[in-house]
Amino acid sequence: MSIVTRFAPSPTGRLHLGHILSACIAQDLARQSSEGKFLLRMEDIDASRVRPEYEAGIIEDLAWLGLKWDGEILRQSERHDAYQRALHQLQAMGLVYPCFCTRKEIQAEIKAMGGAPHDYEAAYPGTCRKLSACEREARMAAGESHAWRLDSRRTANRVGPLTFEDGHRGKIGVNPDLLGDVVISRRDIGVAYHLAVVVDDSHQKISLVSRGEDLLPSTHVHRLLQAALDLNEPRYHHHHLLRDKDGKRLAKRYDALSIESLRQSGKNAGEIIEQITSLALPPR
Ligand code: GLU
Repeated sequence: MSIVTRFAPSPTGRLHLGHILSACIAQDLARQSSEGKFLLRMEDIDASRVRPEYEAGIIEDLAWLGLKWDGEILRQSERHDAYQRALHQLQAMGLVYPCFCTRKEIQAEIKAMGGAPHDYEAAYPGTCRKLSACEREARMAAGESHAWRLDSRRTANRVGPLTFEDGHRGKIGVNPDLLGDVVISRRDIGVAYHLAVVVDDSHQKISLVSRGEDLLPSTHVHRLLQAALDLNEPRYHHHHLLRDKDGKRLAKRYDALSIESLRQSGKNAGEIIEQITSLALPPR
């Protein structure tokens, strides 16, 4: 069976070593099968943060490092219709609800409940899930701005127990409560990462999603969405993140480790790939 993988950077900054680790692993996995494909997808839905020069920089860095993707680049900014269709399907099934809460209100509510509002997304207390259909409609009709959240419990009840297959960890049971009711359509751009990623992985026929283990919790949400929307289910490979010599995770936006700055400091592509391999060790 041929393996189709993808590298899906967001052109909101330059690539750093962690990105290249993901890209190298995805490319290697695809090349393990005779007709495997390694695809490139620009996750450029957040128009306020995306810049054309970052996309150009990603392409330049990948080419300089000798990483070659197959076929055309898919840009999420050109796929809003597909995301809207998926959102309408979820709305018709009653698996999403409008959320009118501001970030501040959510944090205040979490605090009042005695929690630590460190992760606003994960900790959404479900305020708008409890609104009546009448109130929802009235507030939407009045033009109140809102996001759409996945009702993760209701979705789990509808689709039944799910699992996913992870290259390192084996079979994992989906826990709908892990991230809770995530936003799948932001009020500003009409879509959010979780929805766009499952729609596109299915559209691009990705058979193996390879990405950093920091995204492992998201896979629980992605499986719920795939099952509800009847999308393709890929296998997963959540790889270890880059660590320094003390085993601590490297900061994601460590400028000194951008490919651009390493290149400017005189490193060649081979040295950079070697550096990545030496840092890509499992946590101690
Ligand atoms: N766009 C995401 C990032 O740059 C990657 C998403 C994914 O691989 O699913 O972190």
